[in-house]
Amino acid sequence: SEVATMMDVPVTKIISACMSLGMMVTMNQRLDAETLSIVAEEFDYEVEFVSADIEEVTDTEEENPEDLKPRAPIVTVMGHVDHGKTSLLDYIRKENVIAGESGGITQHIGAYGVELENGQKIAFLDTPGHEAFTAMRARGAQVTDIAIIVIAADDDVMPQTKEAISHAQAAGVPIVFAINKSDLPTANPEKIKEKLAGMNLLVEDWGGKIQSHDISAKTGLGVKELLEKVLLEAEILELQANPNKPAKGTVVEAFLDKGRGYVSTILVQEGSLKIGDYVLAGRHSGKVKAMQDERGKDVAVAGPATPVSILGLDGAPQAGDKFKVMLDEREAKDIAARRTQLQREQSVRTQRHITLDEIGRRIALGDFKEINIILKGDVDGSVEALTDSFQKLSTEEIQVNIIHKGVGPITESDVLLASASDAVIIGFNVRPAGNARQLADKEEIDVRLYSIIYDAINDLRDAMEGMLSPEM
Ligand code: GDP
Repeated sequence: SEVATMMDVPVTKIISACMSLGMMVTMNQRLDAETLSIVAEEFDYEVEFVSADIEEVTDTEEENPEDLKPRAPIVTVMGHVDHGKTSLLDYIRKENVIAGESGGITQHIGAYGVELENGQKIAFLDTPGHEAFTAMRARGAQVTDIAIIVIAADDDVMPQTKEAISHAQAAGVPIVFAINKSDLPTANPEKIKEKLAGMNLLVEDWGGKIQSHDISAKTGLGVKELLEKVLLEAEILELQANPNKPAKGTVVEAFLDKGRGYVSTILVQEGSLKIGDYVLAGRHSGKVKAMQDERGKDVAVAGPATPVSILGLDGAPQAGDKFKVMLDEREAKDIAARRTQLQREQSVRTQRHITLDEIGRRIALGDFKEINIILKGDVDGSVEALTDSFQKLSTEEIQVNIIHKGVGPITESDVLLASASDAVIIGFNVRPAGNARQLADKEEIDVRLYSIIYDAINDLRDAMEGMLSPEM
C-alpha cells in the first residue's frame, strides 16, 4: 500500500501486478527489491534504493597509500571447550605479558590491548570462541586479523577445534596454534601436531607454514613466544590504517550502566576517535563524552586497533555493528532513525542468503562462481563419501566448496557460519539441534536434510543445472 500511495495508483492494481508475477500478496506485505523494481516499471516508475548501510552513506574515496601507517593486529582466541581459551586470555591480561604497566587490566570491556617489550602491540577480543567470531561476521563485521586456536595437549583435536579451524578458514583469517597445557605430564604436543598434519594442516615443526607454539596458560610457559609468532604472522599481513581521519570501526559490546548511562566498547579500525566526536553506531548515535581504556584510564585519542569504552551514545548498539564518526550530526541522527524504522518493520533483510533453488538461476545469470556447503552427517564414512561426490560436481564455471564438515547434528554455530559465508547446509541422517532450526529460519538459511546419499548428490547437481524443482 505504501508503494501504491507513492505512485498514486490503487493498491488493488499493485496486488494484481504481483499476482501476474505469480505472487500472492496482501496490502501490508513488504516486497523485495527485485519485485518492487518490476512492479514499479509496470506503472512507468523507476525505483531508486537508498541505503541505510554505514559504508554507503559515507565517504568512499580511495585511501592515499602515503597516509597508511602500520597498525597492531586484532586477535581472537578460539578452540574446544576447556582447552584453555579463557585461561590464556586471563594470563595475557593479568601478567601484562612482557612490558605492560603494573596493575594490569582491571575491567572487562570486551577487548584489550597489550604491549610487548619491543613496543609492538596486539589487540585481543576478550570473548573467546568461534561463535562470537562468526556471529560478528554474520552481521558483516570482519574484525579479527589472526586467530589463535588453543588445543589442549593432553586431549585431542576435538569437534569444536575443527569447527574453529573451519570458521577461521572460511573468514580467510590466518591461524596460529597454541598447544596448551604442556605443563601436564600427560601432555603430548606431538600427537596433536600429527593429528593436524592428518587434516592437511602442517605446522612449522612438521615442515609446514602454519605457526604453532607449545604453551601453558597456567604457568605462562611459551606465551611470550606465542605472541611473538602472532606478530610475525601480522607482519606478513602488512596491516595498515590511516590514523589521521575521522574514526571508523566496530562495536564489541555495549550495556547500560546505572550511574553512567550507555557504555559501548568499540574497536577503532581506521582513523582516530576523539572526545567530542559525533558517532553513529548501528541504530544509535551521540557525542563521545568520555573514553577509557581497559585499565580504566581516560583516553583523549584512540587510533587504529585500539579498543576503548565510550560514553555518550543514546542507546546500546549491538556487537558487530559498525560505527563511524559523522561530521554532520543531523545526518547521523537521520540514519539512526531510518535504521530504527527498518528494524521496526520487522526483520527486513537486505541480503538474502543463497538457496539451492536459486543457485541455477544465479548461475544462468553468470554472477555465481562458488557454492559454499556446510555438511553434517551421522558417521564419518557418509560425510567423506558426500564430500567426495560434491567436490566432483565442480565444473570450470562453478566451484563447490565444503567450507565445514563434521559428524553430529546441525548446530547454531553451523547456521552462523552459513550466514556469514552465504552457505547452504546439508544434513545427512542428522537434524538441527537446539535452536538451530529457529536460527536458520531467522537467518533464512537453506537447510536440506537427506537420508539417501544419491538424493543429496542429485539435488545439488540439479540445482547447479538449474533443474531443481522448488521445494514445497
Ligand atoms: P576454555 O573453556 O577453553 O575457556 O578453558 P578454560 O580456560 O576455562 O580452562 C579449562 C580448565 O583447564 C581450567 O580448569 C583451567 O584451569 C585448566 N587449564 C587451562 N590452561 C591450562 C594449562 O596450561 N595447564 C593446566 N594444567 N591447566 C590448564
